[in-house]
Amino acid sequence: MRIYYSPKYLGHSCNPYHPENPKRVERIINYLKSKGISDYIEPKEESREILELVHDPNYVNFVEEFSREGGEALDPDTYLCRDSFSIALLSASGVRQAALSGEDCFVVNRPPGHHATKDKGMGFCIFNNVAIASESLIDQGKARKVMILDWDAHHGNGTQEIFYSREDVLYVSIHQDGRTLYPGTGFPEEVGAEEGEGYTVNIPLPPGAGDETYSYCFEEIVLPIADQFSPDHLLVSCGFDCHEEDYISSLRVTERGFRYFASKLREMAPKITIALEGGYNLNLIGKLSYSVISGYSSDKEIEIPHKKTEELERIKEVLSAYWSL
Ligand SMILES: [Zn+2]
Repeated sequence: MRIYYSPKYLGHSCNPYHPENPKRVERIINYLKSKGISDYIEPKEESREILELVHDPNYVNFVEEFSREGGEALDPDTYLCRDSFSIALLSASGVRQAALSGEDCFVVNRPPGHHATKDKGMGFCIFNNVAIASESLIDQGKARKVMILDWDAHHGNGTQEIFYSREDVLYVSIHQDGRTLYPGTGFPEEVGAEEGEGYTVNIPLPPGAGDETYSYCFEEIVLPIADQFSPDHLLVSCGFDCHEEDYISSLRVTERGFRYFASKLREMAPKITIALEGGYNLNLIGKLSYSVISGYSSDKEIEIPHKKTEELERIKEVLSAYWSL
């Protein structure tokens, strides 16, 4: 698995105490190096047109100008400093170039993207990296159907919004229930609209849900849907904030859980791009990234018992209108 990273990602920083700070990617790169993974590909700078594949040009202009002026906050959580426009563009470029490369890649990028909608940055996200990569794959004829699997603790409201009416991009998110966590969206009844009806799949989990609940979701919902959709390319919005020791959510995934998630990816699509989203425990983020990379590459089957709940049965019923589950 190839690694994409740029030291320039460290430049997006206003407040060192903000949870989404440069140490996140620095820790990942250092940990991978300690495990013998020291080569990475630096993404090339691209022009702003790639952003306009999914974002409103007025929003792109706004970010460019506001950032140049050293403008501070897009919302109470999301900051811009003077170089943030070009670094956010490079974050999107990294994921896009990794996806277009045709190789399986893990992208150590920031700022993250899955909360960014067509015309608004929020929740630490400026541009929607994974959405831009998905649209690029389709635009360049490299994929006819793209699946996005988002296992960040938070619902990727931006990605959902961008592809809500599309049948060629399937969005599947497992996240902490929106009644108990930002951004408050991602309920099972949000299934997509028009031609996109059925191509948005939301699996909200209650606080405290861990590996066994996730393994049930993978086996009973995510894998069967991937099999039926049969994507040409899978993009993963890889957040580590659902780990039991990440203070930002109340989910309880373990390191073994992440290895299990990664071990299932090859069953879903012939090509895989994993992009970083959240994950704020600096002592864990490197190790968990390594677990995903090694779990993906390992041939060892990871067995985790399944925990079925009434709510998950209800979610399956909602989704059964579109998929045979
Ligand atoms: Zn998150």
